[in-house]
Amino acid sequence: MTRITHWINGKPWDGVASRTGEVYDPATGNVSGTVDFAAQSEVDAAVSAAAAAFPAWRDSSLAKRSNVLFKFRELLAARKGDLAAIVTAEHGKVLDDAGGEVQRALEAVEFACGIPHLLKGGFSENVSTKVDVYSIQQPLGVVAVISPFNFPAMVPLWFVPNAIACGNTVVLKPSEKDPSAANFIAELLAEAGLPDGVLNVLHGDKVAVDGLLEHKTVKAVSFVGSTPIARYVYETGTSHGKRVQALGGAKNHMVVLPDADLDLAADAAVSAGFGSAGERCMAISVVVAVDPVGDELVDKISSRMSGLHVGDGRRAGCEMGPLVTRAHRDRVESYVEAGVASGATLAVDGRGHPVDGAAGGFWLGPTLFDRVRTDMSIYTDEIFGPVLSVVRVPTYDAAMELVNSNQYGNGTAIFTNDGGAARRFQNEVEVGMVGVNVPIPVPVGYYSFGGWKDSLFGDTHAYGPHGIHFFTRSKVVTNRWLDPSHGGVNLGFPQNI
Ligand code: NAD
Repeated sequence: MTRITHWINGKPWDGVASRTGEVYDPATGNVSGTVDFAAQSEVDAAVSAAAAAFPAWRDSSLAKRSNVLFKFRELLAARKGDLAAIVTAEHGKVLDDAGGEVQRALEAVEFACGIPHLLKGGFSENVSTKVDVYSIQQPLGVVAVISPFNFPAMVPLWFVPNAIACGNTVVLKPSEKDPSAANFIAELLAEAGLPDGVLNVLHGDKVAVDGLLEHKTVKAVSFVGSTPIARYVYETGTSHGKRVQALGGAKNHMVVLPDADLDLAADAAVSAGFGSAGERCMAISVVVAVDPVGDELVDKISSRMSGLHVGDGRRAGCEMGPLVTRAHRDRVESYVEAGVASGATLAVDGRGHPVDGAAGGFWLGPTLFDRVRTDMSIYTDEIFGPVLSVVRVPTYDAAMELVNSNQYGNGTAIFTNDGGAARRFQNEVEVGMVGVNVPIPVPVGYYSFGGWKDSLFGDTHAYGPHGIHFFTRSKVVTNRWLDPSHGGVNLGFPQNI
């Protein structure tokens, strides 16, 4: 059985773990390894390694940093299949989808490769007589990245490349459910020439997270996970004086207007609802059917669902894998029961869906509820599984009211052929990422990713230009070189310019 250890100061940590957790293969239900859970002493060791590496790394040239990132990009592209296999083995998503995750991670790395350009400051000559002003962006120091289970490769790489490109050193705390991808990334970065201690991986649970949030040496925290923990991380981290961005959960609505191409909309709802078994923060979990499309749309979605090939993500042809853990599968299944009990129409029951995989896997097939009301728990709660709800509304305005009343504001989409309606939607909707005939509008690596309302605590979004902003602080230098014409002592603010 594999033991997954911390990665501290450029190598696997070789101490004895006082606590460990089990890692599962979700497609078989078997334990595949154990992962060390950090105690406070290991938090201190990881933070100390990052702090010791900081002075030299902050002074490293931009050319050196971008060279490491370019090399890392090449290694990651070459080893994409290996990383995807690691993701599938511990997360359960099908191999093709895991490959897509690594591809999106590569985009974030490619953005950070341009760091010499991204850190260019401003310069103004002669703001006052013979006085020049320029701005520079400097790293923060040791930063922590805390990531969720559902994108074990991509989410760490939303943050780590920009953080190190800006000259920071990092302690990454990945999800304890699928920890191996983080170690693989750390090994590749070491192979790419990243100096020891610039990236450290600390495994574990709340002890590790709290240790980082309260550590005086940690200057900033990038967190992605569920809303209650995101709120906690934001409040705890900021109360300890840190800069924090905490991305939370979601309930993403897809509005289908009467003029939409319903086949396109049905394909999109199934792909975005059940890809990665619904364990995506940008998954569509609510289809808002504007009258009179409800019946036809539900028929089209249902017929596509019956053909979905659910099974072991390593087997050819499987489109949807298991859920990440048994506990999570049971929780999602309890929502199916709750939906039935609350009176929603169970259009497709995933509990009986055929499975191409071992009996012990954490399976649940795709489920569709129709005529869902907003007071039902299947509507109010983030389920984070393969359960899609259809809410029927009479008008566009009612659809907009529904989306904007929701506590979350991560992603949304509208399906229509009416450009005016689409434009009105993107203008009025209170959501951070909007798709027009695109169900999962995850921004490309040179934009930034983030939601509104309870989907994000903090001011900055992840990766792209916001990432550079988050991982630097700016300084403005006002410069005057000695000149014989200086005007002597002046106790006031300069006015004679
Ligand atoms: P989670 O909140 O349970 O865990 C996220 C991280 O927090 C993990 O590293 C975990 O070890 C740690 N953690 C868990 N409980 C903690 C506690 N009590 N105190 C301190 N730390 C704790 O989330 P998850 O189940 O791993 O991931 C799924 C969630 O993440 C979903 O809600 C999903 O919407 C969200 N998510 C959001 C985005 C986004 O960009 N907004 C992206 C991916 C996932």
